[in-house]
Amino acid sequence: MVLDAASATSYLKNYKEKDGLSVKQLIDSTNFGGLTYNDFLVLPGLINFPSSAVSLDSKLTKKITLRSPFVSSPMDTVTEEAMAIHMALLGGIGILHHNCTPEEQAEMVRKVKKYENGFINDPVVISPDTTVGEVKQMKVELGYSSFPVTETGKIGGKLVGIVTSRDVQFHEQDDDKVSVIMTTDLVVGKQGTTLNEGNELLRTSKKGKLPIVDSNGNLVSLISRTDLQKNQTYPNASKSFDSKQLLCGAAIGTIEADRERLDKLVEAGLDVVVLDSSNGSSVFQLDMIKWIKNKYPDLQVIAGNVVTREQAALLIEAGADGLRIGMGSGSICITQEVMACGRPQGTAVYNVTEFANQFGVPCIADGGIGNIGHITKALALGASCVMMGGLLAGTTETPGNYFYRDGKRLKTYRGMGSIDAMQQTKQNANASTSRYFSESDQVLVAQGVSGAVVDKGSITKFVPYLFNGLQHSLQDIGMKSIEELREKTDSGEVRFEFRTASAQFEGGVHGLHSYEKRLHN
Ligand code: IMP
Repeated sequence: MVLDAASATSYLKNYKEKDGLSVKQLIDSTNFGGLTYNDFLVLPGLINFPSSAVSLDSKLTKKITLRSPFVSSPMDTVTEEAMAIHMALLGGIGILHHNCTPEEQAEMVRKVKKYENGFINDPVVISPDTTVGEVKQMKVELGYSSFPVTETGKIGGKLVGIVTSRDVQFHEQDDDKVSVIMTTDLVVGKQGTTLNEGNELLRTSKKGKLPIVDSNGNLVSLISRTDLQKNQTYPNASKSFDSKQLLCGAAIGTIEADRERLDKLVEAGLDVVVLDSSNGSSVFQLDMIKWIKNKYPDLQVIAGNVVTREQAALLIEAGADGLRIGMGSGSICITQEVMACGRPQGTAVYNVTEFANQFGVPCIADGGIGNIGHITKALALGASCVMMGGLLAGTTETPGNYFYRDGKRLKTYRGMGSIDAMQQTKQNANASTSRYFSESDQVLVAQGVSGAVVDKGSITKFVPYLFNGLQHSLQDIGMKSIEELREKTDSGEVRFEFRTASAQFEGGVHGLHSYEKRLHN
């Protein structure tokens, strides 16, 4: 008998359950083994809205909500100020690494907090004694030759002139000091000038650079016409509610000296601190959370890492505002191999978030995020944000220089538990404690590797690719927001499917002689 087509949707009632598995069934189906992101898929839902309508708002901590769930990892080949500034501009947040002195880390926090889009806060500045020859050499090295001149030769010094390419181009006496040729009749903006006002001043004065000075005539920043033309707007930028400054996170360890480090970071304007341990369930971390909550009640504290609900419970009770989940899933990580400790990331994310979300504690899925699909899966399993190291490594905003090998443009990406990174920590007596060794250790036991990744271009293109991709992914599942995805996963409406090894093969590119995998334009 053929059924009436008009009754197809109502006929579904004859089935006991929706097609596929609920998230709980999915997890239970792997009772004898942990689940990774690649082991399952989310089943598609009804699309009745455009992908651009999908909201990616999500909580980072109890008190901080971001417009996108992207967090950069506190690793010394991933997050310094350039990454933190751009992650925040693009709606996420960067967590500054701590393999440096407290002063260096605090300076990075200050740079993020002081950053104003369109203003160059650390321009290259010269002194009146710099020679014309030196400026010509700087043009070769930097590619431009307009520099503000201050009495001290530094930002913050009294502005006395500006040197432009026109001033030096036809000046043949290279030994002359720039004070002889610099322009002293200056058009300047006062501190507090908005970008629009600065833009207008540049337009009417027909100048290429507008120095911004404080009430004493000291240089505080610079607006450049060429940068203005390139200037993008960042409607999703993560900003403090009151000061409108970019949000900034930083990682610290859990020894006594880290308390002084934190004092410096808070003074510089830190919004959220990440307690950086590979196993967060330690008495050191519990004490640290309590100490911070007592001294800085407004500072948001992300504790971790954890992979079980027992670990999570201790940190939640101590006052954590967010948790970081993952042990051994990072792309540079050999923890599971060496320590025998860890947990497959899908299972870890589900079990910890299922527990922590009941206490209103948002969780970050940290490690093993290799593509947009992994992000969707981490969120579906209950995470509020994802932390990425390898996926962002190799972008322009990461620390370190590019180098060429085998015809490819590469950058170093290394685990913080790699011998390289730990040796750097040991050499620098003021660097924070490593996540991966104790001060008394004579022999370093690596938990990570050091390697290279290919140039990925700027995150100003890569993060929007992740953002749009995630919106499309949620649209395919029929969800208009991360919040809805989480709610409907919990209620059993969003369905999942386990993936066998051959299903994973089928889901990848196969059967081609050769191909190029370009992820975005
Ligand atoms: P990825 O995004 O898969 O590259 O993983 C990054 C994460 O790996 C970081 O956020 C840390 O949690 C973790 N991680 C960083 N360095 C190491 C290491 O040396 N060993 C193990 N895990 C690490």
